[in-house]
Amino acid sequence: MKITELFAKKKPTISFEVFPPNELYSLDEVFSVIDELAKLKPDFISVTYGAGGSTRSRTVEIASKIKNQNHIEALAHLTCLGATEKEIDSIVEELERNNIENILALRGDYPKDGSPVKVGNFSHSCDLIKYLKNRDFALGGAFYPEGHQDTNDLLDLFNLKIKVDSGVDFLISQIFFDNEQFYEFREKLKKLKITTPLIAGIMPVTNAKQIRKITSLCGCTIPEKLRKILDRYENNPKALKEAGIAYATEQIIDLMTSDIDGIHIYTMNKVEMAKKIMESITNIRADFEGEYNEINRAVK
Ligand code: FAD
Repeated sequence: MKITELFAKKKPTISFEVFPPNELYSLDEVFSVIDELAKLKPDFISVTYGAGGSTRSRTVEIASKIKNQNHIEALAHLTCLGATEKEIDSIVEELERNNIENILALRGDYPKDGSPVKVGNFSHSCDLIKYLKNRDFALGGAFYPEGHQDTNDLLDLFNLKIKVDSGVDFLISQIFFDNEQFYEFREKLKKLKITTPLIAGIMPVTNAKQIRKITSLCGCTIPEKLRKILDRYENNPKALKEAGIAYATEQIIDLMTSDIDGIHIYTMNKVEMAKKIMESITNIRADFEGEYNEINRAVK
């Protein structure tokens, strides 16, 4: 099923992001992460592409498992920077052969060490979105409530309008820790008559060093309340995990209560964390879905 069809049936959707094997997780481990996440009955699971040191070739294989073995909708991330049309065609055809109906169309990051990018056919995500538009996929794109690091906020908003006009069907946000920033951004989109469904990307903080690195790379604000948590529990991983999950859960509940189209949890392949969050919102989710018994059984 296309994610666009999901939106017609329920709101908010709850989904997870996983990444393919890397130096920390073998393929078997990623598969078992997915099996556990599937028990929590997300509306879809997305798989990153080449991010965080993972190999690109595994994205289709993992998305295929999610869709064809776990019978959960899969969203395959796909980046286009440095890719040729032929390379994109080959991945997209593989996705089609595996019945994957959803693609998150992204540009990708320039190498952090400044090394040159292979010359390809795409400069921005909107080029990929336009290129894929004649295929039968629901297409998602990324958005940045606090702006994208390469551009100023106003220009990024203008470029987001181009992305939307290129035919994107839904948007998933960069991580953010201050819901007010998200709501302010949503208001700006409304003024621009952008009505594309917005999915809020939430990352529970479980590692202070990692979150400081991520936020400095993507330029997202750490509010005072979260900063205090990081400072206080930095050297106590168990306490930090508890506080980080509670913080993310609070963000999610506020978003769900504020008319959000979807919540996407960046699980970092950590099942326990996703499980705890889902347990904490069982009744809230059921309130939206009327599926209390089924979900309750799943999180037990
Ligand atoms: P774009 O939409 O192309 O935007 C990039 C920059 O170019 C912005 O500053 C924008 O303002 C500007 N721009 C956009 N269009 C135009 C235009 N027409 N003319 C001029 N300027 C323009 N990375 C991975 O490698 N793998 C992943 O799996 C992955 N998953 C992600 C999932 C989400 C939800 C998010 C938010 C990010 C993800 N990323 C991933 C990171 C992403 O690749 C980077 O943030 C990248 O820097 C930008 O990608 P984009 O698709 O937003 O690019």
